[in-house]
Amino acid sequence: MVRDVIDWYDREARDLPWRHSDCTPWGVLVSEIMLQQTPVVRVLPVWNEWMARWPSPADLATAEQADAVRAWGRLGYPRRAKRLWECARALADEHDGEVPSDEATLLALPGIGAYTAAAVASFAFARRAVVLDTNVRRVVGRAWGGEPLPALHLTVRERERASALVPEDASDAVRWAAGSMELGALVCTARAPRCDACPLAAECAWLAAGATGLEAAPRRTQPWHGTDRQVRGRIMALLRAASAPVNLSGHAALEDVEPGQLDSCLESLVDDGLVREVDADRGTYAL
Ligand code: SF4
Repeated sequence: MVRDVIDWYDREARDLPWRHSDCTPWGVLVSEIMLQQTPVVRVLPVWNEWMARWPSPADLATAEQADAVRAWGRLGYPRRAKRLWECARALADEHDGEVPSDEATLLALPGIGAYTAAAVASFAFARRAVVLDTNVRRVVGRAWGGEPLPALHLTVRERERASALVPEDASDAVRWAAGSMELGALVCTARAPRCDACPLAAECAWLAAGATGLEAAPRRTQPWHGTDRQVRGRIMALLRAASAPVNLSGHAALEDVEPGQLDSCLESLVDDGLVREVDADRGTYAL
């Protein structure tokens, strides 16, 4: 089954710039951070812009944090921009401006968790690693485990099952990692898997058992309008577009937001280090 996924990936892989052989480890790392909660189509233009502007960690390390946050645009979860900027500084200061190749050293960098460390080791350095994102978890859970959707949090059993599937050969391991992710993103999607187009259809445990349980599974998407995430995004958009500090309370673009919610969102952005108060008396803020 692993071989079926690798063969499918060799045929069907999307041509993405961070998969090109001339892409640097830094380019791979940036792509992995951007892709964590954002689809490929939205990441592509921003990644291209970032790589043209900051082609190495040293380039980003010398930029202002506010420039990195501004260039993050509308990718969402802007804390990632700040963490990436901190990561660039750590690479410049402690690693001679190079991205390390082993997972343990990668894990010690700001903003790099277990998934990203494994993905960078695998995709940038062709190392054997257990790359487990939500797409891989779904494919493995269905095809091998007969489960409609993975649990909210990664379990020990799941990690052991995923570990056991990684091929010994490093080149195969990398294609398995990329292929299982790609299959989950394009074919074995959360709500409407296209089993008729899947290379695992003949062997998939969940399909063989009748492909049930999806209707009953709760949706994990949160309502968007009016949430703190949306309000934080609107504040960030305002500040990104501004060339001078902005007074946000009573701002026309935020007049539908409850003052209490506005204050708490603003406070959380300041706590996250994404926004700074410029003048307390005037109530002005900037990135
Ligand atoms: S056969 Fe369907 S459920 Fe099974 S892995 Fe393929 S797309 Fe997913």
